Amino acid sequence: MSLVVRARRVVLPGGERAAAVHTRDGVVTAVTAFDDVPPGAVTLADDEVLIPGLVDSHVHVNEPGRTEWEGFASATRAAAAGGITTIVDMPLNSVPATTTLDALRVKREVAAGQVAVDVAFWGGAVPGNLAELRPMHEAGVVGFKCFLLDSGVPEFPPLDDAGLRAALAELAAFDGLLIAHAEDEAVIDAAPEPAGASYAAFLASRPPAAEETAIGRLVAATRDTGARSHVVHLADGDALPLLRAARSDGVRVTVETCPHYLTFAAEDVPDGDTAYKCCPPIREAAHREALWAALAAGDVDLVVSDHSPCTPELKRLDVGDFGLAWGGIAGLQVTLPAVWTGARARGIPLPQVVGWMAEAPARLAGLPGKGAIAVGRDADLVAFAPDEPFAVGRLEHRNPVTPYAGRELTGVVRRTWLRGREADGSPLGRLLGRGDR
Ligand SMILES: [Zn+2]
Repeated sequence: MSLVVRARRVVLPGGERAAAVHTRDGVVTAVTAFDDVPPGAVTLADDEVLIPGLVDSHVHVNEPGRTEWEGFASATRAAAAGGITTIVDMPLNSVPATTTLDALRVKREVAAGQVAVDVAFWGGAVPGNLAELRPMHEAGVVGFKCFLLDSGVPEFPPLDDAGLRAALAELAAFDGLLIAHAEDEAVIDAAPEPAGASYAAFLASRPPAAEETAIGRLVAATRDTGARSHVVHLADGDALPLLRAARSDGVRVTVETCPHYLTFAAEDVPDGDTAYKCCPPIREAAHREALWAALAAGDVDLVVSDHSPCTPELKRLDVGDFGLAWGGIAGLQVTLPAVWTGARARGIPLPQVVGWMAEAPARLAGLPGKGAIAVGRDADLVAFAPDEPFAVGRLEHRNPVTPYAGRELTGVVRRTWLRGREADGSPLGRLLGRGDR
């Protein structure tokens, strides 16, 4: 099976140029001049750019156990529609949580045969499962997630400082990766409680200092153990100097942020609209702009969705109470247009955005076949119309709640190919392990 796609603009590892991408059996075999194509090649429209399929290393699928929140079929259909050809499933909110080798087997069995894009898995590091980490690593998880405060679900408890250091020391032995939800419980306990519909009160209940304190603990433990760690969903621009200093000292810590922190600002969140509730919270515009500047400077490595849906009932839209609502934002399908809309407005070129959303998350997750249009990589391709505006309408994920509803964005995903085949929502996806190509 061979597919050749050419475009006047193709985003390649070295930048953007006119090219033809030749593939065979789902793998890129050559990148040639635009005119060097066999009969039957697909030529993109003049307003389309060919980019690599994106890699989203932060998706909560929630199946099995909380499949009414989200499931493998609906989440991966949303991914395909959004130009994302690989997702990495988070270890919590499903039951069982992926904290044992047996639970990993359960997850893989449930996912098999129903995924529309490729799927890899994070394991979880929780109190008492140290002996499971190496077996899960050997079975192909891409790394381990931990929480430094209550996760919101009882089956995924947080690590205290001793537990964090023990997990990092264990992972250092096989160069495994620990990713952390970095907010500090003590700082949050000392802050005022969230109260009703007030977004300002919710924001005050989870102050930036909670992120800085937890990131400080993570950095110190990473430095002392020599392990690799990663900060998920950074919302706090004031934590950037701390991370920058640690990285320049050689501490092996990477960091991601998410589309909602780059798109929205606390000043604009309507009171009572709990579709915007996530933890850490969407902060003021000054934090958003600091995150954009850090991305542009290379101080934040990647942008991934943190797609974390639940049922409309649990979002408590009926009462609009930020204290009661589940925290998590659903928007997997609009990750690319949301980030691109913000980048475009700030004069950031598309290849840089693709770097944050394809190459960098593929590297984080250790998926060498993914993340770029290059010989030997999977033929995961997206036809993207970067200048076409649209309003966010019906999305493919299971529950329709999203703060992006009705929002005007720019950049439309017109076609997605997964390993050389049209990713049309049918179950073409594979389950991947770390290092698979
Ligand atoms: Zn998450």
